[in-house]
Formats: sequence, C-alpha cells, structure tokens
Amino acid sequence: MRTSRTQRAAVGAELVRYGEELAAAGAVQVGDAFTDDPAADAFVKASAEVFLIGILFTQGVPAERAWAGPYQLSVRLGHFDLTRLSAERDSVAAAIVGPPALHRFVKTIPAWISSAAGRLLAEYDGDASRIWPEGAHVTEVTERLLAFDGIGPKKATMAVELLVRNRGAGLVGMECGSVAYDVHIRRVFLRAGLVDVDTPAEVRRAAALACPNEPGLIDLPAWLIGRESCHPRVPACESCRLSGCCPRLTGRSVAGVGVRRPTR
Ligand code: SF4
Repeated sequence: MRTSRTQRAAVGAELVRYGEELAAAGAVQVGDAFTDDPAADAFVKASAEVFLIGILFTQGVPAERAWAGPYQLSVRLGHFDLTRLSAERDSVAAAIVGPPALHRFVKTIPAWISSAAGRLLAEYDGDASRIWPEGAHVTEVTERLLAFDGIGPKKATMAVELLVRNRGAGLVGMECGSVAYDVHIRRVFLRAGLVDVDTPAEVRRAAALACPNEPGLIDLPAWLIGRESCHPRVPACESCRLSGCCPRLTGRSVAGVGVRRPTR
C-alpha cells in the first residue's frame, strides 16, 4: 500500500516538530545524555577525542552501552592517552575483552580504537575538534570521519548530527546532512510510509523531502520513535508520537534484521 503525498507530508511535519523540540531541549539519545552512567556521560561530553572514539563503539550494542565504552576503557587502562592507545594495541585489546567484555566486537573495536588514535595524532595533532572546525561544510566533515577505520556512512551521518546538535559544532551545509541508515529509522520510515523501499538512497531522499533545509533534524526523532514505540514485533502505536498521522503499516519490517535491540 502506497501512502498519499498528504499523509507523507503530515508524518514529515510531525517528525520535524519533534526534532525541533528535542533540539531545544538539548536531547541526545538517553534524555539529555549519551549514556545512563553519569561518569561515562560526562567523560564523553568533556572531550572531542572521547566522542570520536565513542562513535566507534556505536555498533551492535545498545546506545547506553556503546557510549559508556570509552570511560570503561579508560578505567581499565588507567589512562585515555592517544599515544598509548595507538601504540599499546595489545593492552587496548585486553581491556576490551575483559571479562566482562566492553563490547560485542572484541576484535574489531580495539583495532579501530588504536587506528583512530594514530590518525588523530598524525593528521589532527591529537585534537579531534580539528575534524569539525567552525565553518566546515557537513560534506567535508563527513568525508573526514569516513576516513577513520570503523566509521561508515551510518556512523558518520549520526556523528555529524550529534556534533551540531550536542557539541555546538558550527558547521555549514546542513541541507546536505541526512538521517543515519539505522534499523530504527528504517523501520519507522517504512511503517510511516515515508519510503516503500528500504534502501539508503530512498531513506535519504525521504528525509530530504520531509525537511529540505536540514534533513538530519529528523534523525533523532525517528530513531527515538523506532526505539521506544515502533518495536519490531509489537509496535506501541497508541502511545507513539506519530499516532495521529502514521498510516501504521505495521506489516512492514526491516529485512534481514532480528528483534535484538540494536545500537547507534
Ligand atoms: S509505532 Fe505505530 S504509529 Fe508509531 S511509527 Fe510505528 S507504526 Fe507508526
């Protein structure tokens, strides 16, 4: 079933409204925090380098666990020194493995961390904020992020949105931003009729249609709706923010993804 242009416009408008409310409230992903551990949250917020390394953790585990990773790593290592993170690869790997493991991907995450630390030192003088200087274009920053091992288009898009929304990065070209091709967002876009085909290009196109000036504005609202209401098996339509405008195409699901709660 295809939704009408009017229905899609209504859904898009509601996502934009929700996005504006979240932006005004300084929302991140867990209320106004990255993670539910206050010490770990403060650690991420205090340092551009920690934020960058935190992005690497946002894969295959819930967001709260992912963003707590850098702090837990620093506690186990007793430091968060980029030179040592780059050079002491075995120590980083052992700290990630635990037990308990700090992440599902105990082989790739340590390698990405050491690689990122080395790149930060070699190309940005150890200062991650130089990746996103004031006035940099969204496309340029995205490309710089994509150069890091472990950061693909989904993480780069999410990172740009977080940088602007939560780290005060003064980027230009927000019309070139988008939503991350994330499982929660894809499910909401499918069921709310914003897309009929689940591809990165279609999701990007739908976000740009819904919010031409800043497509990324609807990233967080769609992600939150997907995580909190539009559950894979039993969506909570009645309590959903989109309940008044969504066509509720609940028979649609994201192909190839189980019901385990994914990250971002
Ligand atoms: S939970 Fe229901 S109303 Fe909300 S986006 Fe999903 S299908 Fe639509």
